[in-house]
Amino acid sequence: MKYCAKCVSPETKPAIRFDENGVCNFCRYFESLDRVDWEDRKRQFIEIATQAKNKGAQYDCVVGVSGGKDSTYMALYARDVLGLKVLLANMMPECITENGQHNINNLQEMGFDCFMFRPNPKVSRTLAKMAFYKWGNPVKPSEYALYATPVRAAIMYKVPLVIFDIDTTNIDDESKWQTDGDASRINESNTLGFTGDADHLICEGVTKEDLVPYQYPTQEEIRQAEVKMVYHAHFERWSAHHHAMFSIARGLHVRDDNPEDLGRRTNYHALDADIGIMNQMLKHIKFGYGFATDDACAGIWDGTITREEGAKWVREYDGKCAVRYIQEFCDYIGITLDEFWNVTETFRGPMWQKNKIGEWKLKDQIK
Ligand SMILES: [Zn+2]
Repeated sequence: MKYCAKCVSPETKPAIRFDENGVCNFCRYFESLDRVDWEDRKRQFIEIATQAKNKGAQYDCVVGVSGGKDSTYMALYARDVLGLKVLLANMMPECITENGQHNINNLQEMGFDCFMFRPNPKVSRTLAKMAFYKWGNPVKPSEYALYATPVRAAIMYKVPLVIFDIDTTNIDDESKWQTDGDASRINESNTLGFTGDADHLICEGVTKEDLVPYQYPTQEEIRQAEVKMVYHAHFERWSAHHHAMFSIARGLHVRDDNPEDLGRRTNYHALDADIGIMNQMLKHIKFGYGFATDDACAGIWDGTITREEGAKWVREYDGKCAVRYIQEFCDYIGITLDEFWNVTETFRGPMWQKNKIGEWKLKDQIK
């Protein structure tokens, strides 16, 4: 496996490309942010906020929230910096953690109305199980609902603006780096890779009628409702670390697990449900990289760690996951640990080989 010479991204990362110096397009994208006029971008954000306020609706904007570091930061920024009347929209996760419950409550207690929406838990469970067997990614269906919920809330309450976090769709295409922050096609984003049509989630036990929460509104519905959608990260430089420090100072609870339990060094991600931790372990088996790689890349792009430190994080923590989180997932979808590992093995990528004592090791571990 080839790795970027500057960050620790491997060649198996979706949409990655390397230039003649072996540096990836993600690194080049983050370098390009140094050349952005952020004061001007902030003025643009304020202008968009003013237009939303001038509509005189019951709420000026919707912010989709889990109560985690980024959504806490965004909600307070929208209200206190942009002066917007904010409606929070929360898609309630299954198997919510104590931290998750505390954090969403903590954010609401700061003085927000919150639209809370929980899809049918029987359907959620069936979809998670189907997606594990079919794609080795049980989280994928819930992401449909996660993106659809704030847009639905905006249409329902006639709110003119929805603010999303960060655009991950255009990093592979340099010509699109200087977008206008428009998020109206978020349903086509790389992380989801779908066009908003939830029909392909139909499976045994789940009909089209069950998929209402997962169905992203059509472009026509969005146009008719005159909902504008933007990415916060287009208008203000994004820093997960900064958002975490900001939110912790305002009552956010983070994880107290060891890095070996989480598969990553930082403790302020995936706070509301444990399934995300297990899902990153699956990603590591499929693509040869997981949470620790993402963490290290973010630190390198932020300038808070060196590549050497990042590579060490990857070697020490990537792909690790506490057995209790795997067991929790097995209990949730009703399978045994043996069955879990049998299914998981079917997704193992070609970057793995067994060592002399029969353990799976990456052929090219990062140096
Ligand atoms: Zn890179």
